[in-house]
Amino acid sequence: MTPGTPRAWSVAFVEPKLLSPAYGHADRKRMVALVRADLPGCLKPNVLCHELFHLRDDAEGWLWRELRANVYAALHFPLGFVVGTLMTLGSAERRRFYAALIKSHVRRQGNG
Ligand SMILES: [Zn+2]
Repeated sequence: MTPGTPRAWSVAFVEPKLLSPAYGHADRKRMVALVRADLPGCLKPNVLCHELFHLRDDAEGWLWRELRANVYAALHFPLGFVVGTLMTLGSAERRRFYAALIKSHVRRQGNG
């Protein structure tokens, strides 16, 4: 496949236990955007937009890819971004989850 060639993708709303504490996941191998079915209605479109962005994004580096997807989804679904951010700030599990991901990313960057 040539870079930039559009690929078919699909969306699945899944049980929370499959992704928690994450809200979504982009499976680039299968081109599927997974979104937790239990999220509030205003958050689902933001998370879906975020995951679909990941499916098309060829940027390198986890943190850079997350920043790009978050900004893109926030510009398109700002209310969902605010609600998702507030839910994350209110969840110790999600704060620990993302702190561990960021630490792991920074550690890898330091070794590379
Ligand atoms: Zn992401």
